Amino acid sequence: MRKTRQKELIFNIVDNSYNHPTANDVYVKCQQELPEISLATVYRNLNFLADNGLIKRIKMPDNIDRFDNRHYDHPHFICVKCASVMDLEDGFSFDVDSLNSNKILDYEINVRGICEKCLKKEGEI
Ligand SMILES: [Zn+2]
Ligand SMILES: [Zn+2]
Repeated sequence: MRKTRQKELIFNIVDNSYNHPTANDVYVKCQQELPEISLATVYRNLNFLADNGLIKRIKMPDNIDRFDNRHYDHPHFICVKCASVMDLEDGFSFDVDSLNSNKILDYEINVRGICEKCLKKEGEI
C-alpha cells in the first residue's frame, strides 16, 4: 500500500538521522525514493509518527520543529548561531526527587547556547 510505504520511508529516514532533521530535511531525502511526495504528506506522517510516540518532535524557538529518532524524553542543546541540535544525555541529570509528589508526564529541556563548532569559527576557543 502506498500510504504505508510513505510512512515506513519517513520513519526510516528519521530513524537513521542523528542530526534532528526538520520536516524539510526529511522531505528532501524522501524525494530521492518517492519523487512525487509532497511536503504536506511528509508533515502529516511526521506528526502521526510523533503523536504515536515512534519519533519525537522537538519544539524549536523559531517554530521550525525538528524530529528525533530517540523517542524518549531527553535534554537538547540548541546552537543559536547555526541552529544545530545536539543530545545532552551525558552530563545532564534530571533530579526526579525534587519534584516531590508531582507526577511527570513528559518534559522538554532545551539548553540554548553557542556550539563548539561556532565558537571555534569565531576564535573563542
Ligand atoms: Zn553552532
Ligand atoms: Zn535528541
